[in-house]
Amino acid sequence: LTVTTTAGASVSRVLDDIAGIGRGSDGGYRRPVFSTAERDLRGWFVAEAERRGLDVETDRNGIIWAWWGRPMDGALVTGSHLDSVPGGGAFDGPLGVVAALVAIDRMRERGVVPSRSLAVVVFPEEEGSRFGIACLGSRLLTGLLAPDAARRLLDRDGNTLADVFAGSGIDPRHLGPDPAALARIGQFVELHVEQGRGLVDLDAPIAVGSSILGHGRWKLTVTGQGNHAGTTLMHDRADPVVAAAAIVGVVAETALAFDDARATVGRFEPHPGGTNVIASRVDLWVDARHEDDAVTAALIDGIATAAGRLAGRHGCTVEVVRESWSPTVGLDPALGRAVAALVPGAPVLRSGAGHDAGILAASVPSTMLFVRNPSGISHSPEEFVERADADVSADVLADVLGGLL
Ligand SMILES: [Zn+2]
Repeated sequence: LTVTTTAGASVSRVLDDIAGIGRGSDGGYRRPVFSTAERDLRGWFVAEAERRGLDVETDRNGIIWAWWGRPMDGALVTGSHLDSVPGGGAFDGPLGVVAALVAIDRMRERGVVPSRSLAVVVFPEEEGSRFGIACLGSRLLTGLLAPDAARRLLDRDGNTLADVFAGSGIDPRHLGPDPAALARIGQFVELHVEQGRGLVDLDAPIAVGSSILGHGRWKLTVTGQGNHAGTTLMHDRADPVVAAAAIVGVVAETALAFDDARATVGRFEPHPGGTNVIASRVDLWVDARHEDDAVTAALIDGIATAAGRLAGRHGCTVEVVRESWSPTVGLDPALGRAVAALVPGAPVLRSGAGHDAGILAASVPSTMLFVRNPSGISHSPEEFVERADADVSADVLADVLGGLL
């Protein structure tokens, strides 16, 4: 393979190259896993990696690996994801992937001679925005998600994960724990845009991660009686939208009762969803998070109890099903110290957002670097990184990877 380092490539310029992929008219990105947009990005990544002379392979869970050096156990691994939430920002995921590629350019320019191999990975379905389970690729890799359950997952259009993966060339029969691939990760470092205001408040461009807040998703199904909006008297109704609306209010109220807890209803779907139709059912999803997993459990118990009471008051029933759960994860302290020593003066931050690094941390030493986001906003088009910070992130990542290699 010919090694062609792109002279002068910077993170901000490379991000410009992909800025048009999957961007909607509102400026937000829609890059669900294996959509045309995400597949275009995966193809772009493979081309960029191969242009740098990296050897690219896609494993049986759809994770792309781009190797600097031959594939080996105990390699240094970095990377992130290319999928987005609906209406997401430009940096969540791609920043870590682009910074990894540019960091390799920087290390080559500096004449770094690695003593072991380095791989850049791209995880599929990190956001869980298509199949409902965040960090799906790393959960499959590590065995946290059973392949049978994964294959049966449905997207909003009723496509099974098995069919969607097959359509993108990933044989769904081979999904599942991959100890050989996992053994190749000696250490994992994920660089990511910060999704809160920590670095803005600290006036610093880059932080080292310490922990990832426990978080989970629960689906609430509120069932009532579908009926005619004109002929059904108000007192004769069992309207699940009215019950579900009250439940949304109680989700926020219940979370406020627990210090530092977060609970969100960001998805609310009345069925069948007609203007002149009393719905028969509402599906809504609660995302809940707290550093103390026992608090999250108590929060969900409180929400479920109140939801049952409110549903009954409106002649409806409610079912609460947990769709995913990730306990609070401490990132690797020794690796964190080693990384912090390579980024002098960087503050240490915990993350309120989930990441593949948090899933991998249970199996291999993993840590994170966060890059300042002046808006403090994420999962929104207003997510932002200054060009200078984006460019510096590759230099810092090169310092870290070069130091660990
Ligand atoms: Zn992300």
